[in-house]
Amino acid sequence: MPRETMKDKRERALAVAERMNEHYPAAECALVYGGNPFRLTIAVLLSAQTTDKGVNKVTPALWERYPTPADLASADVRDVEDIIRTIGFYHTKAANVIRCAQMVVADYGGEIPRDIDELQKLPGVGRKTANVVLNEAFGIVEGIAVDTHVFRIAHRLKFAGPSADTPAKTEDVLLKLYPRSWWGPINHQWVLFGRETCIARHPKCETCFICDLCPSCGKV
Ligand code: SF4
Repeated sequence: MPRETMKDKRERALAVAERMNEHYPAAECALVYGGNPFRLTIAVLLSAQTTDKGVNKVTPALWERYPTPADLASADVRDVEDIIRTIGFYHTKAANVIRCAQMVVADYGGEIPRDIDELQKLPGVGRKTANVVLNEAFGIVEGIAVDTHVFRIAHRLKFAGPSADTPAKTEDVLLKLYPRSWWGPINHQWVLFGRETCIARHPKCETCFICDLCPSCGKV
């Protein structure tokens, strides 16, 4: 592909978004949380480095044992570990979810704050988790959650270059590329696309619906 101007790149980015809207008109969060922002926060926190499916298998038992933030705040870490031990990094995550619940109870009256900076004060909650929670639970769009799928796809599409070597830098690039009104669905759509088509090891370029818009088509 010849060197692309910023204007061309923006047009290509919008074309990608339009195709995503056609293919994933109702992309949703795969985590089951019953519309409860606290449970969503804990589920997203548990989902780091593991699958949403794996998280959905352990959270029903977690909520049954600890129905409220106050219940989880006073949990014994070994009991939480026992419930979530099938997921990656369960030891650290058990400690984090209890500390997170404790802070939600102590500092936020048992409610998840609707503010990206306040959310990031919760143990285990980084910008990605904060973006997902705000967007999914409250419909507030402050950024684009960059997880492993969004990071990979942004780079394969050459929206992000080699210098955007962290999720935060990649988010910055995407926020500049897309108008704010387009940010909302990007994470859910790209996660689905990353699982189904632009897979980490073997992307299915031959059947990809944005192959004509992708400089990496067939080259990865
Ligand atoms: S063409 Fe290939 S590398 Fe490009 S987005 Fe599609 S699957 Fe990913």
